[in-house]
Amino acid sequence: MFAGRTALVTGSAGGIGRAVVEILVKNGAHVACVDLTSSAATIKSITDNGISSSLMTEYQVDITSKSSVTDLVSQIKTDTGTSTSLLINCAGITRDGWLWKMDETDYDAVLNTNLKAPFLLTQAVAKQFISEKKLGQQSSQQSSTGGSIVNISSIIGKVGNLGQTNYAAAKAGMIGMTKASAKDLAIHGIRVNTILPGFIQTPMAQAVPEKILEKTRQQIPMGFLGDPEDIAEGVLYLCGRSGKYVTGSVLEITGGLYM
Ligand code: NAD
Repeated sequence: MFAGRTALVTGSAGGIGRAVVEILVKNGAHVACVDLTSSAATIKSITDNGISSSLMTEYQVDITSKSSVTDLVSQIKTDTGTSTSLLINCAGITRDGWLWKMDETDYDAVLNTNLKAPFLLTQAVAKQFISEKKLGQQSSQQSSTGGSIVNISSIIGKVGNLGQTNYAAAKAGMIGMTKASAKDLAIHGIRVNTILPGFIQTPMAQAVPEKILEKTRQQIPMGFLGDPEDIAEGVLYLCGRSGKYVTGSVLEITGGLYM
């Protein structure tokens, strides 16, 4: 489905990012795996499943830096020969704490990583996409199916959570940013959507104390935590042909939690 196209996935060393990279590569995209830490384990786990490593390139970048993001987007074009037309903003952090105790630095770190960085990436990728469209330099694949951006927010952005004022603010902001950027970019052939995962079995969820996880499990109508692949399937739908008329949407993948 994505043959000849370049996807940029942030947070590719993490639990959900790894599954997103795998599904896009399996569907023919060349994936730029972007993370603060090495994505070598992600790439190895995918090649162990029989997929060629030539479809993945690793970039170790701090996405909160505007100059690094700008350089990254042009470097990917140089390395792959195609501009990025699929962007999955998946990197995220938590710095939890009671509101009255939360350090300003923890608030800023979460807002910078979870909200400002996806803005910087969206802007850099959209600029490249739009300028190539104007110059008529896009491949027929890219000009016929357009660009697609998927922001991985969180169900916490909809309902809030104890000890997560910074995280909930950033994830709620991502929903607003998705809708506004979908309006700005529709005319340029770029769709923007967001996914709200519920509780998914990844290192991020493993950091939650078992007592709280058990309580959460009891609240999930389907009765169990999701897998990273459940989120990756949502990304595939939104980026692929099936989602070609979908923009500005919010897709909850939560097992029914907080519906
Ligand atoms: P994870 O911690 O496994 O992965 C996050 C990745 O982001 C890490 O590899 C980390 O190195 C990377 N990252 C952090 N800061 C970065 C930076 N400045 N530059 C580049 N990379 C950076 O987390 P996950 O569980 O895979 O979550 C992925 C996304 O899904 C996050 O945005 C998270 O908020 C969201 N989410 C997760 C869950 C869940 O239950 N796991 C639920 C709702 C939403």
